[in-house]
Amino acid sequence: MNADDLPTLRGELEAHGLWANKGLGQHFLLDLNITRRIAKTAGDIVGKPVIEIGPGPGGLTRALLEAGADPLIVIEKDPRFAPLLEPLIEWSEGKLQIVQGDALNVEEATLLASPTLAGEVASEASGRGACASVVSNLPYNVGTPLLVKWLKAGAWRGDMTLMFQKEVAQRIVAKPGSDAYGRLAVLAQARCHCRLEFTVPARAFTPPPKIASAIVRLTDLADPYPHLDALERVTGAAFGQRRKMLRAALRSLTPDAEDLLRAADITPTARAEEIDQAGFRRLADAWIVKTSKDAF
Ligand code: SAM
Repeated sequence: MNADDLPTLRGELEAHGLWANKGLGQHFLLDLNITRRIAKTAGDIVGKPVIEIGPGPGGLTRALLEAGADPLIVIEKDPRFAPLLEPLIEWSEGKLQIVQGDALNVEEATLLASPTLAGEVASEASGRGACASVVSNLPYNVGTPLLVKWLKAGAWRGDMTLMFQKEVAQRIVAKPGSDAYGRLAVLAQARCHCRLEFTVPARAFTPPPKIASAIVRLTDLADPYPHLDALERVTGAAFGQRRKMLRAALRSLTPDAEDLLRAADITPTARAEEIDQAGFRRLADAWIVKTSKDAF
């Protein structure tokens, strides 16, 4: 299967009179060299289930099919791209499945268990350990909520290779003590190794966005922190007022902020950006103990 045999993406967009809708974060990658590089960054996907959000005209979709994704499930909100994507079903010998809808509302586990997919994927996704990689040039406006959704996802979710605005990518991989370090870094790194792989200049997209983008690869930790909801609560409060000492910042969470910090073995005068992953895990654990005691 060679994507060079297909009509060009630019030609397809023109032939169907399609243009980018900025409200849906549409900035297309029409250069197969770049989409092939993204597919390669996703590792060996031959014969493995892959989910792509927002295929648009299908540049990354072509590269993922060429790289052997099977099945490749694409979820696209904008129905205008159906005539460009549907011919890829036959080209891929049925490996492509197109879902029209909002990725924020889609239940990936249900999709993967669908009887329309290969039987082995369905049974593996329902609990025997196989999982789908997520590979996407994400729409900017929903990239962060989608990432948080997938961080919380169950056993269906495998590694993720995702394009974000560069600044968001830097926030995902940030370490304590840096300006970029915040809630997103703590949540992502509680579940995954996070690596910024490469940046893509704005001029590589059609139309070009205002700023560059970057690919981040996220692979599950051997000991992922389980309580992401609690971690979201404590990091939301801590970084909500990041310049304040934690004993003040956490008052939005509880009037007993100092007790909570002491229970987590954190100096009450510290600021959020000084607290590492282990510190935030202790804080979330202490918050869970506190809220369960308060419930009685
Ligand atoms: N993958 C294509 C590429 O690389 O050229 C397009 C990427 S473009 C940055 C983002 C795509 O996500 C668009 O096709 C857009 O219509 C789609 N999209 C936006 N919001 C979405 C949502 N909530 N659910 C699914 N797709 C969405």
